[in-house]
Amino acid sequence: MAPVAERILDGILRVTLPLPSRPGHVHTYLLDGDDGWTLVDTGLGLPDAKERWAEELAGLEVRRVVITHMHPDHIGAAADVRELTGAEVLEGELDYAQCRLVWGSPDWPNRIAEWFLANGVPSAVANELLEVGFLYGAFIRYAADPTPLQPGALVDGWEAVPMPGHADGQLCLLKDGVLIAADHLLTPISPAVGLYPESRPDPLGDYLESLERTIELAPRLALPGHGIPIEDPSERARELIEHHRVRLQRTAASLSDEPRSGYEVSLQLFGRELKPAARRFAVAETLSHLERLVLEGGAARGGANSLVTYTAA
Ligand SMILES: [Zn+2]
Repeated sequence: MAPVAERILDGILRVTLPLPSRPGHVHTYLLDGDDGWTLVDTGLGLPDAKERWAEELAGLEVRRVVITHMHPDHIGAAADVRELTGAEVLEGELDYAQCRLVWGSPDWPNRIAEWFLANGVPSAVANELLEVGFLYGAFIRYAADPTPLQPGALVDGWEAVPMPGHADGQLCLLKDGVLIAADHLLTPISPAVGLYPESRPDPLGDYLESLERTIELAPRLALPGHGIPIEDPSERARELIEHHRVRLQRTAASLSDEPRSGYEVSLQLFGRELKPAARRFAVAETLSHLERLVLEGGAARGGANSLVTYTAA
């Protein structure tokens, strides 16, 4: 069944595409402009993605595709849409560099495996985490050599606003108080903010700043990549700041004089009974909180490169 575009506001259509795992769907947006349409995100590159997009975009002149970030559910079908429409693909430079690093480098699985081990993940578990991380690898057809989208640039009247945190290169689009938020703001789930190798060193600090910037910008509506439109984005940003403050406190409370790896702390915070996909997020999320605590003076990092540990500061 082809997805069906829903009209969200004048000149903004939403196309919702399926995901094989939670949250089960991803929203993409079509923005009407002077010279045609701008498509924001593309969904996963599932085997029938091109066919779906051909049906969905029939009769629409798509001029450009904006990639908000390099996660599979947003970038996966970018090459398909470009082939189909001839549209220009725009993506942030940092985001594209990370996209190539993760999805285009044959040695990435080894690098991330070493990194899990260095953070205390037992090797059998590390293998499970690697497998789930690359489940979507087959469904990623990113567009090579996109046009770099600079922070602050205007795309058909929409301002590209960097909101690092969920992804280092996360970009939103803002016009007339409407924020195309991608995964920067979600409700009721909270966007994952994890630390990964070769990423920015303090993703949670980045994210908290991005949430403060959201409050300053005070959009009247945020249209997210998953879930329902957010009617009070500033309020949601405040809730998410509070959510992470509480989690930082819980993380600090779980530390003692005895050195613990990020993996061990994640077991304490998130429990032992997680499936691999959830465990992967739990480890990355725990590490982003531990690194923020180190910077705030609430934790100390020790150990060696081969095994990183944390203690109470
Ligand atoms: Zn997403």
